[in-house]
Amino acid sequence: MPLYDNHTIKIYNTLTGEKEVFKPITPGHIGMYVCGPTVYSNVHLGNVRTFMSFDMIFRYFKHLDYKVRYVRNITDAGHLENDDDVGEDKITKKARIEAIEPMEIVQRYTVDFHNVLNTFNFLPPSIEPTATGHIIEQIELIQSIIDNGFAYIVNGSVYFDVHKYNETNAYGILSKRKLEDLIHNTRVLDGQSDKKNPQDFALWKKAEPTHIMRWPSPWSDGFPGWHLECTAMSTKYLGDYFDIHGGGMDLKFPHHECEIAQNQASKGKNPVKYWMHANMLELNGARMSKSTGNYINPAELLSGENDKMSKGYNPSVIRFFMMQASYKSVLDLTDDGLQSAEKGFNRLMDAIELIENLKTASKSSFNVTNWQQKCYSAMNDDFNTPILIAHLFDAAKYINQIKDGSATITEKDAELLASTMQSFTFDILGLTNISQESAGNHQLAGAVEILINLRKEARLNKDFALSDKIRDELLEAGIQLNDSREGTTFTTK
Ligand code: AMP
Ligand code: ZN
Repeated sequence: MPLYDNHTIKIYNTLTGEKEVFKPITPGHIGMYVCGPTVYSNVHLGNVRTFMSFDMIFRYFKHLDYKVRYVRNITDAGHLENDDDVGEDKITKKARIEAIEPMEIVQRYTVDFHNVLNTFNFLPPSIEPTATGHIIEQIELIQSIIDNGFAYIVNGSVYFDVHKYNETNAYGILSKRKLEDLIHNTRVLDGQSDKKNPQDFALWKKAEPTHIMRWPSPWSDGFPGWHLECTAMSTKYLGDYFDIHGGGMDLKFPHHECEIAQNQASKGKNPVKYWMHANMLELNGARMSKSTGNYINPAELLSGENDKMSKGYNPSVIRFFMMQASYKSVLDLTDDGLQSAEKGFNRLMDAIELIENLKTASKSSFNVTNWQQKCYSAMNDDFNTPILIAHLFDAAKYINQIKDGSATITEKDAELLASTMQSFTFDILGLTNISQESAGNHQLAGAVEILINLRKEARLNKDFALSDKIRDELLEAGIQLNDSREGTTFTTK
């Protein structure tokens, strides 16, 4: 019997504004689409948080034996500056500044994205389609929207007619906006004069002569609109109506709102059963964002080479820090927060290391089955990882009590405790035990100790050139020797 038969998951659905019982469209199968990155610069930790929330959700579904098709795209064309319909393509702009091919930019930052996600122990999605690999599908989609009367062509560009659409559909259904209010609040910008109304959005844009990333279409040599790409790629791999569409909270409007409109206008169907939005990561109280400069890149946080944190943090500590908040809450990245996450993470890992060698008894002084149920209930309640982690700490406390002799556990319960603790910590939260790395550190310490002794010998032989060489070259390698009366110790940078 698959595990999901024993569990009822509830998911907060942005579309209905309610926590709903999750029922996949096809029993046992889940189709999930998450808007991927626009690969024009290094990902920052805010981006990482959103993808990590969906990685945890993907992991939990898989743990429950669901067959999941998880599609996360790469946006490699069509995303214009300021998420607007005018302005330069983000990727082309970067390519122009660096005087290289746009596809070199795409390649560089796709590789960076994958490296970062590997560092944080992400599972790869089932399909990772690119926007430029799906131009034909996008052209077909635009044609059907035109044929259904919801789009118009001006000077080689195609725009979605939001006002026409709103006569028979509800534009704003996801973000709870009303077209009248949007009309009232829209500033009319220069350069938008091709549109009938400022609320309309581009499905296809005619390329200026200087625009490098261009494709032939029935309307012009041009490029697709950003919102359209996701409609084409999600429905191609998951069908016209699929289970879950996710992304960051900032994408709800207009990006996801437009996706709904495009699907309704081309296929007459609402595309998604459950819309899920992950909340934002802040840095010292303000939203992390490339454009404001308030961001930190993963590499800087890992190495400690930044002006915002006191030191570097292990990727599992950062992952643990993020998992301590619900994916729906805003989370502020601070040095204090990371330091306490580090302590908590180490406490959890220490307990997990003890778990294998617990002395067993004839009775358990803790209800392990009930505890396991509570772990599942936390995850079933809209993936409540902070509550799950609180339960994992309860278990860690119990494990320490068993070790001290102030609590007991039966052999059967010890097995259940070990397997549950490990699967929630490693398989579902996606943490990795850094004791393997600590083992690496152990070996490093051994090697440095040998060099410290060689240096001591050199000094005794008055070979100061050699002793200084050992000290200086270690420093270059990031290892600082500290001499004191008690002897020599070392610190790593
Ligand atoms: P982009 O590459 O800008 O299209 O963004 C990729 C993903 O990262 C989107 O799902 C955004 O919602 C998300 N994102 C951007 N900034 C943040 C942030 N500060 N916190 C969490 N997610 C973010
Ligand atoms: Zn998208």
